[in-house]
Amino acid sequence: MKVLVLNAGSSSLKYQVIDTDTEAVLGKGIVERIGIAGSNLEQKVNGSKYIINREVKDHTEAFQLVIEAITDTKGGFLKSVSEIDAAGHRVLHGAEDFKDSILITPESFAICKTNEVMGPLHQPANLACIKSVQALLPNIPNVAVFDTAFHATMPAKAYMYAIPYEDYKNHRVRRYGFHGTSHKYVTGEALRLLKNKPGSRVITCHLGNGSSMAAVKDGKVIDTSMGLTPLEGLIMGTRSGDIDPAVVAFLSNKEDKQQYNIKSFVDVYLNKKSGFLGLTGSSDFREVTGKAKSGDEIAMLAVDMFAYRVQKYIGEYYVALGGLDMLVFTGGIGENADFAREKIAAGLSCLGIEINDSQNKATHGEFADISGANSKVKVMVIPTNEELVIARDTVRVLSNK
Ligand code: ADP
Repeated sequence: MKVLVLNAGSSSLKYQVIDTDTEAVLGKGIVERIGIAGSNLEQKVNGSKYIINREVKDHTEAFQLVIEAITDTKGGFLKSVSEIDAAGHRVLHGAEDFKDSILITPESFAICKTNEVMGPLHQPANLACIKSVQALLPNIPNVAVFDTAFHATMPAKAYMYAIPYEDYKNHRVRRYGFHGTSHKYVTGEALRLLKNKPGSRVITCHLGNGSSMAAVKDGKVIDTSMGLTPLEGLIMGTRSGDIDPAVVAFLSNKEDKQQYNIKSFVDVYLNKKSGFLGLTGSSDFREVTGKAKSGDEIAMLAVDMFAYRVQKYIGEYYVALGGLDMLVFTGGIGENADFAREKIAAGLSCLGIEINDSQNKATHGEFADISGANSKVKVMVIPTNEELVIARDTVRVLSNK
């Protein structure tokens, strides 16, 4: 099958066409700055680039541009869109309605729509993409693969918040977790390396612009660091991660912060102005590391805070799992930033976790075993592949239909 995988962000649309028989990527690309001046599409086929600069006002226009690029006689890679058998969509939030990937029907789409409130930045873009495919490629099925689904196996003691119970019952306020397709992909690879040993205990660290961790026992998530929304947990590019909510009430009384109401405190201040950006002025870990290495004390503190938070979660999850067989690093930082991995690992020797310094320093973006010779736990760098999970799930859902 040829599956078109679509991953819509608030102002971007990433796409790939995957031949699921061989798992080869036939072509891929991204439309950026949707709804912002200067939008463009960049497509890559067998290493060569094809660029279209054109204003696109919304995700529907972006998808039209994707179709044009895919089938372009010069820069494209399909003769006709009729070669596409199905579309697999990354959808942010399945809430408690969807614990696995699903076929989009009028009924399931309507439920996804009601869950837009759970992910107001991404879910409307995800659903707009489904609508665009239905309009332009009406003969192919659409499958939704939820970012939350892989975490659906968490026990209640891990997903409940200690707030009045009726807010869970009435409003489904609880931890859901995100980056599920990434955690699922690297868990699959980890289990393969562990030869599917029953009871395998794995901690997956997806460290990128958004960062999250998961504790996985026997292939099932038992806890994860993001919450009702992706704000909770680790320190991220622009998000604070874990914080005392009283900070919001405290700061809202300060004169210079009075432009924020509670919603904008959370949506803007904690989600978009905090994390590395708030601490150092840059959300990009490469830049933060660069500043830290050239002696900037706050940048160094930010890296230390980031690593310390990851260490604390590893400690928690080590206990939750009753030990550990494999620690996995993935995501832009996890795969590339040896400095971050070194800082994190420096605090883990009490758990018998050690890395091989030279192997760690040499690993940038590729699959590698970076375990130290005496480490009791395997430490791996596994590049993630969320698109492949979406393509595989699309085939699975359609074959179960
Ligand atoms: P997203 O969450 O948007 O998918 P990514 O997983 O692509 O983000 O991760 C982006 C982050 O990875 C950025 O902070 C970037 O600086 C960092 N990163 C990418 N490459 C490197 C590198 N070689 N060294 C350090 N950090 C890197």
